[in-house]
Amino acid sequence: MFGFGKNKGEPAKAGAATTPAAAAPAASIPRGLMVGRMQDWQLTVDKVLDHAKANHAHREIVTRSVEGPIVRETYGDLYARARQVSAALLEDGVVPGDRIATLAWNSGNHMETWFGTMGIGSVLHTVNPRLFPEQIAWILNHAEDTHLFFDLTFIPIVQKIHSICPMVRRYVLLTDEGHMPRDTGIPNLVSYERFIAGKTQDVTWGGFDENTAAGLCYTSGTTGNPKGVLYSHRSNVLHTMFSLQKDCMGLGVEDTILPIVPLFHANAWGITFSAPAVGAKLVMPGAKMDGESVFQLLDSEKVTFSAAVPTVWLMLKQYLEETGNTLPHLKRVVIGGSAVPEAILKTFEDKYEVQVFHAWGMTEMSPMGSMGSTVPEFMARGTDAVQKNKLKQGRAPFGVEYKITDDDGKELPRDGKSAGHLLVRGPAVAGSYFKGDGGQILDKDGWFDTGDVANLCELGYMQITDRAKDVIKSGGEWISSIDIENFAVGHPAVANAAAIGLPHPKWDERPLLIIELKPGASASREEILNYLNGKIAKWWMPDDVQFIDKIPLGATGKINKLSLRQTFKEHKLPTIQAAE
Ligand code: ADP
Repeated sequence: MFGFGKNKGEPAKAGAATTPAAAAPAASIPRGLMVGRMQDWQLTVDKVLDHAKANHAHREIVTRSVEGPIVRETYGDLYARARQVSAALLEDGVVPGDRIATLAWNSGNHMETWFGTMGIGSVLHTVNPRLFPEQIAWILNHAEDTHLFFDLTFIPIVQKIHSICPMVRRYVLLTDEGHMPRDTGIPNLVSYERFIAGKTQDVTWGGFDENTAAGLCYTSGTTGNPKGVLYSHRSNVLHTMFSLQKDCMGLGVEDTILPIVPLFHANAWGITFSAPAVGAKLVMPGAKMDGESVFQLLDSEKVTFSAAVPTVWLMLKQYLEETGNTLPHLKRVVIGGSAVPEAILKTFEDKYEVQVFHAWGMTEMSPMGSMGSTVPEFMARGTDAVQKNKLKQGRAPFGVEYKITDDDGKELPRDGKSAGHLLVRGPAVAGSYFKGDGGQILDKDGWFDTGDVANLCELGYMQITDRAKDVIKSGGEWISSIDIENFAVGHPAVANAAAIGLPHPKWDERPLLIIELKPGASASREEILNYLNGKIAKWWMPDDVQFIDKIPLGATGKINKLSLRQTFKEHKLPTIQAAE
């Protein structure tokens, strides 16, 4: 039998929870307080898959494989194969705490690698393949990954980086022998199917402290080097529980879930854990996320719930409009990662009868930070009011605390107007970065500054008005670049929009609106400004509009404002002369 004690190395705190019926440890409870007499059932993620196997063994995981065909397995199969991954890793010398990297799309194989790694106390490190190869190599070296599991799609990346990643001693190509390419030049390369073939399922999972590290995900690092967020088993399990609240993702065994948001983007917003926890059927999109491919899966697998960034919904919306197809099965979608444009919200709700939930979060929050559920006070106000309110980022699920402060750290009122720095606290929020990078990241009361600027209303709705670094400061007041962008993309000719602040002698900064038009569409500066007129406050109106071919996006699909500021740094606003 494989497992701790039979291999080199030790779990982070060995022996903390080997007997599930043991009482909670009393060591940290001060004298005078009573010790509770409940079981010490450590919150480790292997228990999620144990539960799925025991209760939902026949529910399916369906993958559109990178090789082409649709592949079907059950939670029972996934459990068995994940244990084989564990055995293969242990046989290959992996010890608890080792980092195992993946460069992979959402698939059953990726899930098996995920649970197979975490179950034995090693750390699953998802890497974003949309980064440049040099950035990927930097991250692999910083994490000191020993193994890299990757999809066929990413062979060219691995060919570029293997010679500069000396710590990686095994490359596992997530495919079978029949699809193994010849002469890749990648050392110590083995196919996934060969790697796990014939391996025992008799391995020990869990049995270590719930604070043991389980996963690693780097932030995109738009300023400075990327920083690693090191999730623990406990943070993942608690995140799973609170994301399952009815007013959060509210998933159940009757759901068929298509997580389009990648596993490499903050744990696919936790769905890798929450779906097996409730036995929901999973549909994994593999490499294809265009409108047609997404529609095919939604339709053929009768998907009821999905989650993705606005860009994906925009592509699906365009596809549906071109083909006249509809969404008879889909009931709910979560949209987050960046603000939901009104046009997307209204189209999906009004035309396709799909309920839209706006979510906000970040890698450092595991990532769920809010969900746009509707409180009864709003339901009574009618559809328009409800939809308008859904453009806000939503409310805190139990397990997340908010505080809004001004520049001096003074807490601002929950009046729906006062915008300030959004601070968060909770058991699934980062306490520090991997290797201590970035130093102390919490204030003295344990609050983490999200870098977002937001307001909070008395009903608990939080509205992001900007990133602290993107806010446009005009005459001492803050203008929300996000609001301007959201309205601008509502114009029928506009594909994407970005607002940035440019220096202004009188006002300090004034907004410049940058527009990418839809292919073949046209619109003038005046048309855009007229369209915005009356939708946003007068003093928020952009001082100028510029058109570019393509708005640059970062690796997580968000607008790269750093690059736009660089491009337009010499641009002189036409209002400057008037002010001088
Ligand atoms: P990265 O910071 O690496 O780009 P994250 O996914 O961690 O990737 O990004 C988190 C940030 O994305 C948040 O701090 C916020 O600025 C932005 N964001 C996420 N969801 C939303 C949303 N619904 N509306 C507006 N901004 C969002």
